[in-house]
Order: sequence, then structure tokens, then C-alpha cells
Amino acid sequence: MGIISLASGNSCWRGLDYYKSKKVTELNKINENEYLSVVKGTKNYNVHLDIEHPRKSTCECPLANGKRIICKHIVATYFSAIPEEAINFEDEQTRLQEEYEKENEYDEVIKCLSKMSKQELIGELIQVFDYGPEWIYNNFVKRNLY
Ligand SMILES: [Zn+2]
Repeated sequence: MGIISLASGNSCWRGLDYYKSKKVTELNKINENEYLSVVKGTKNYNVHLDIEHPRKSTCECPLANGKRIICKHIVATYFSAIPEEAINFEDEQTRLQEEYEKENEYDEVIKCLSKMSKQELIGELIQVFDYGPEWIYNNFVKRNLY
């Protein structure tokens, strides 16, 4: 499991915010997977980020201190260490948002259909027959005419 999947949604968003407003200072790479930083906030917190073993990451803040929790300071440090992950996170959130909106749109279409008169529905259906793929028309004929 990665840092992002172990952190709460709130910690991810706040962490992204901290990263973007450049609250991560003194970022130091210890080795391929470990970083140290100081994250500025109401107080300054020392963060130790372990990408390979996320649960071993530490932060001095009250939420995470001694609790193996991935807080916003650890997430912010992670995004600073690997900026592509911040882009990936945002892209994924945008994709989920669009998916959610598409689902809502479908519900709205059903609601709209249920309010239409028979005449309006026939009009819409004829448009589908005239401009939609041919199999829709053929299926309708097969099911209803013979
Ligand atoms: Zn923290």
C-alpha cells in the first residue's frame, strides 16, 4: 500500500494544499525511499517519510505522533519529494469527479424522460431511429413487428 491509499481523503487534500503553498521546507533525501523535511504550519513539524514502508513514516504533529498515521504533513512531504504523484492524485480525483457527474446525468435523463408526454417520447424515439445506429431500429422492428 502506498502513502496515498493509507492516508485519509482529508489528509490527502490538506497535504496537497500544503505542498502547493510550499509549506514543505528543508527537504532532504536520505536514500531512494526516505526523506526528511520540516513542514510549516501553526507549528513546524519534523517529518520522516518512508515511501517503501509508509507506516514507518513519522511526523511530530498531535494526529500522527507515535500512531503510525499518515497525516497531511507526511502527504505534503511525499508530494514534494515526488511531484508527479501530486499530478497523478489530482488527475485521479478529476476522473472520479467526472465519473460521478456522468452517473448523475444519467439519473437526470431518466427523470426528464418520465416527465415527457407520449408525443414527445415518440419524437425522441424517432430521432434515435433516424440518427442512431441501425441495430437499434432493427431490434425494435424484430421485437415489435413480427
Ligand atoms: Zn503531521
